[in-house]
Amino acid sequence: MASEPVDLPAQDVAAVVHRAFPGAVPAADYIAWTVAACAEHGMTPEVTLPILVTCRDEVLTDFKAFVSSSWGLTFSGSSLGGSFTMGRTGLDAARRHIPETELPLRVAFFVFPHVGIDADGVIGNIQRQGRANTSLACGAIITMREQFLSGEVRLEFDPTDPEMSLLRQRIAPHLLGRPVPDLVTITELVREAAVDDLVATGITTGGPIGDLAVFTGLLVNGPNETSWVWPNAATVHRQHEAVSIDLDIAQMRDF
Ligand SMILES: [Zn+2]
Repeated sequence: MASEPVDLPAQDVAAVVHRAFPGAVPAADYIAWTVAACAEHGMTPEVTLPILVTCRDEVLTDFKAFVSSSWGLTFSGSSLGGSFTMGRTGLDAARRHIPETELPLRVAFFVFPHVGIDADGVIGNIQRQGRANTSLACGAIITMREQFLSGEVRLEFDPTDPEMSLLRQRIAPHLLGRPVPDLVTITELVREAAVDDLVATGITTGGPIGDLAVFTGLLVNGPNETSWVWPNAATVHRQHEAVSIDLDIAQMRDF
């Protein structure tokens, strides 16, 4: 019978996470920083709709709770793996949910595919509550990676597996004919594709949305069921001034 995992001391958890993801910060601290960083630009939680683009996995419950407790009820843009599948129609639906009294419309996007790391520093492994055995995160991205490694990849749309089909189709151009990268690199590809697809809707350069913020990075599911953010970029787009401002992620590390 497998034994229950022993909790690591907190400093050891941080050491394991930082070895693989230097500069990662506890997810709760990161989300608190996003509120402070946006407030300088008039984007307070009272007038801003948060939209989460991440995976469906229940291991992200903490992260989703941090976002909603700081930013209010979130519009879900989540799908298996964390692709940007809500598209222009999803954005339109989200836009209609903002009360007219809160015009101009303001939106904060959180684009965060996830990856696990266990107490031994093995990337892709996580210990889930109530399960003695090690589990995988992100299961969808790991499955996709294995399919590419096997050389047997279905690229047509499969209506019995729609989200995986879309994930494979979106990432295939980056992988076909090349060596399959490691899990962190492939998770980064998923993240970059999601941000590219979000930007391609035109939402960051005009349209009916007022100011918007885009926060992106990897969400790391660490040992002892901890959640970390490995930040990549944070940008506020001020539509009326047609400027994009890169927020200072370094500032967040002292937050
Ligand atoms: Zn996942």
